[in-house]
Amino acid sequence: MGHQILGVMDSLSVLSPLKDMYVGGMPKPKEYVVALIPGDGIGPELTTATLEVVKKVSEVYGVSINIVYAEAGDNALSRYGQALPERSLNIIKNSHTCLKAPVGETSADVIVRLRMMFDLFANIRPVKAYPNTQALRNDIDMVVIRENTEDLYKGLELTVGSNTAIALRVITYEASRRVAEVAFKLASGRRKKVTAVHKSNVLKTTCGLFARACRDVASKYSEVVYEESYVDACAANLVRKPQSFDVIVTTNMFGDILSDEAAQVAGSLGLAPSCNLGYNYAIFEPIHGAAFDIAGKNIANPISMILSTALMFEWLGARYGDDPCVKASESINNAVYKVLQEGTTLTQDLGGSAKTYEVAKAIATKIT
Ligand code: ATP
Repeated sequence: MGHQILGVMDSLSVLSPLKDMYVGGMPKPKEYVVALIPGDGIGPELTTATLEVVKKVSEVYGVSINIVYAEAGDNALSRYGQALPERSLNIIKNSHTCLKAPVGETSADVIVRLRMMFDLFANIRPVKAYPNTQALRNDIDMVVIRENTEDLYKGLELTVGSNTAIALRVITYEASRRVAEVAFKLASGRRKKVTAVHKSNVLKTTCGLFARACRDVASKYSEVVYEESYVDACAANLVRKPQSFDVIVTTNMFGDILSDEAAQVAGSLGLAPSCNLGYNYAIFEPIHGAAFDIAGKNIANPISMILSTALMFEWLGARYGDDPCVKASESINNAVYKVLQEGTTLTQDLGGSAKTYEVAKAIATKIT
């Protein structure tokens, strides 16, 4: 496979083409209050490891970060009777941004609720092949954008009698249009290709509306190549020719599934970060779940959460016009790249035997 490996500085920043979508030019605060959800399963291990990197980067770049813990998830439910207690919600409301580890069975009561509450309408999931990661090909570099506020995730389910269950799929033109706008803006700053993924041959009304909104946005971006794909064909092509994708935009449920697939094709779920983006707030989290099968062993890959932190610094930098934050983000991305390129400190999912905190330490050491 003689493909070119991405260089250290190539295309590691993700959000910058979206700058004009955030409410930018906000006054720069003395310190950033970051609400931190430590989560369940492997969440607390990833959190401890990630804080090592946050500490180092804030020292090196002089960015003052005030971490405030906001408990949420299965642990919070058993302790306080609520997966998203009022106290945690207030911490999040009073923060500049939120960094979140995965939560377990209560994720619908935590992240799905937060996405709707803060109108975090675009879930941006960069997927990249790094060296030494057992990616199917080393020229994979795409972003999956998942609509984040509607579809089956509205949770509108009902039963008719005892043997029939119905879920309502909500798709609106406006939610589809604004997420498509994110996709085209991102693609404009990248390889200029958008693939809208749906199933309009079967779901004629809901997917048909999503496709119409995507086409309307596409008509404004003549420099971006636009294509559409049915979700089943896209699932196959993610394995068959993953290098052909630049930006995928799709509805909530399809995006959930396709982004896990894409991350695995690029090496591991444990490498995949995400940004839940709204106009006024953003939450950063790994795309994967609490992975209870490997929890408590310190073998989970912390890179998904560390790269989520890099996205967080990139967003803070753009929103508050804060150059050290942008530099901090670049530095984290480069440190991750170097550690993977060396290939001596890898967790089990990448074929290594390093512990979660050893990977984080190796990354922190490379931040200079
Ligand atoms: P959810 O539906 O909340 O996304 P899930 O039950 O689909 O969760 P995950 O928790 O995402 O599953 O994990 C799927 C598998 O991927 C796990 O069994 C685990 O082995 C692997 N995995 C996930 N995250 C990591 C990680 N950070 N490091 C290593 N392996 C991981």
